[in-house]
Amino acid sequence: MLRFRRNVYLDNNATTRPSKEVVRQVTRVLKSHYGNPSSLYRTARDSAAVLEEARKTLAETINAAPEEIIFTGCASESNNAILKAVSAHFFPAKKRIVTTPIEHPSVLAALQHLERQGINVAFCPVDPQGLVRMEELERLIDGETFLVCCMYANNETGTVQDIGRIAEITKRKGVLLMSDCVQALGKIPVDVRQLGVNYATFSAHKIHGPKGIGAMYVKEGSPMSPLIHGGHQEQGLRAGTESTHNIAGFAAACAAVPGMLARAPTVRELKDRLVEGLREIKPDLRLNSPANDGLPNTASLTFPGIDNALFIAYLDYYGIAASAGSACNTQENAASHVLTSIGLSAEQARQTLRISLSDETAERDVAYFLQTARDFIQGEPMPVTIVAPGQLDENLLTNRNTFILDVRFGYDRKLLKSLPGAREASFVFIKKYLKQIPRDKNIIVICQGGYNSPITALYLKLKHYRNVGFLLGGMLAWKLCHGALYDKLAGKDVVRLNV
Ligand code: PLP
Repeated sequence: MLRFRRNVYLDNNATTRPSKEVVRQVTRVLKSHYGNPSSLYRTARDSAAVLEEARKTLAETINAAPEEIIFTGCASESNNAILKAVSAHFFPAKKRIVTTPIEHPSVLAALQHLERQGINVAFCPVDPQGLVRMEELERLIDGETFLVCCMYANNETGTVQDIGRIAEITKRKGVLLMSDCVQALGKIPVDVRQLGVNYATFSAHKIHGPKGIGAMYVKEGSPMSPLIHGGHQEQGLRAGTESTHNIAGFAAACAAVPGMLARAPTVRELKDRLVEGLREIKPDLRLNSPANDGLPNTASLTFPGIDNALFIAYLDYYGIAASAGSACNTQENAASHVLTSIGLSAEQARQTLRISLSDETAERDVAYFLQTARDFIQGEPMPVTIVAPGQLDENLLTNRNTFILDVRFGYDRKLLKSLPGAREASFVFIKKYLKQIPRDKNIIVICQGGYNSPITALYLKLKHYRNVGFLLGGMLAWKLCHGALYDKLAGKDVVRLNV
C-alpha cells in the first residue's frame, strides 16, 4: 500500500527526546558555566550554584531534602551503588536481599555479582500482571534479610507496584527498602516520603532530559558509601567532577514533570485507543500490561503467530520506532526475563512488542501506527525475501550470485563463526558500506538472533537494492538446522569489508 512515510517514536521507555528547554539549559551551562563547582573563584561558584539549584529542583520533584540527592552518571550506576553499599554495610552479619524477578538488568546483574560475594538473593514471585505477591514477599523476609529491592514501575509492562504497602511490610520487619523509580518519574506521582522508601533511583533521559545523568535518593540516616572513590563531590558519595550541564538539563526536565503528569490522562487515552485499534485488527491479541492501573504510556502486546523481529523491522521501514521487550535486550536472542516471569512462553515473548508513548505522542501518530500495523498483520508481503534456515543450504551458499552480508557485532562473531564467503559489515554504520555491496547479486543479510538482519535488509531495499533477503532467526537458528554444514564450512573465506 502507498502511504507517506512518517517518523513516529513509540519507544519512550527506552529513552525520550530531550525537550527544547532541556537542550537550552544544557547548552547554556556548557557554554557559560564551565567552572569546576569544587573551586573557589566566581566562575566556579556560578557552577556550584547551578548544581545546588538543580539538586533543589529534583528534591522538590520527589519530595526529598536536597541533602538526600546524589547525582550519578546514570540510573544503572545508582542501582549498583546502593545495592553494593548496603550489602557492604550489613554483610556478613546479615546476608539476604529480597527482590523480584522483573527488575532492570542493572539491578539483576549487580545482585548476581553480590551473590558471588556471598549475598543470598531471594526472588519474590509476581502474578500474571507482574504484581508482587505480598504474602510471598512477607514470607521471604527472614532474620538474615537487610534489604528489599522492588522497582516502582516496570519498563517492559508498565506494571506499578504498591510500594507503600511493601514499605509497611519492610518497616514492620525492620529491613530497608530500595525502589528503582526510573520509569515512574514523569508518568505517575513520585513522592519518596509517601512511598516510605530508604533509597530510590532516577534517570534524566527517561523524562526528556539528557543521557548520562542519573540520581539517587538516600533517605537521611540510611547507610551509604561510594561506589566511585576519589574527590569529595556529592557529599563524598560519588567522586568525579559533576556534569553540571547534564545536571542542569536534568533539573529542566524535572521542572516539566508537573506538566507531564497533567497530560498523563491524555497519554492513557491515546494508549487505550491504540490497544483497542489493534484488538480490532487482531482479536487474539494479548495485553500483558495491566488494563487500567499500569503506567499511562506503556503497552506490552503479544501478537500470536507474529514474529516480533519482522514486525519491528517492518515498522522501522515505515519510520516507526517500537521495541521488543526492553532496549537493553534487543541484541540478545534470549526471551525477556520480565515476560517469562509473568508467565509467557519463550515463543510468546518473541511475539511481543512494547509500545511506549510520551506526552509528545499525537493522535495522528497512533493513527499512522495502526494503519501500518494493520497492513503488516493482514499480510502485506515484506518487500524483502525471508530466507528460512533450511533454505540456506550448500547450493545457495556457494551460488555465484549469492552475497552474504554479516551484520553481527564483534562479540557475537566470537561466539559463532560466519557463513562461508560472508562479507562482514557493521550494523550501525551500514550506510558507509553501500559502495561495497553489489547491486547485481542476491543479498542475504545475516545476524546472530534474527533482529538486526530484517532491519538491514529493509534499509537496503530503501536504498533501491533489488534482490535482498535476510536469514530468519539468524546464525543461531542456522547452526541448529545445519550442524554438520556449520562444522564443514563456517568461517571459510570470510572477509571484513573496509569503510
Ligand atoms: N531502571 C529502569 C527501570 C530502566 O528502565 C532503566 C533504563 O532502561 C534503568 C534503570 C537504567 O537507566 P540508565 O539508562 O540511566 O542507566
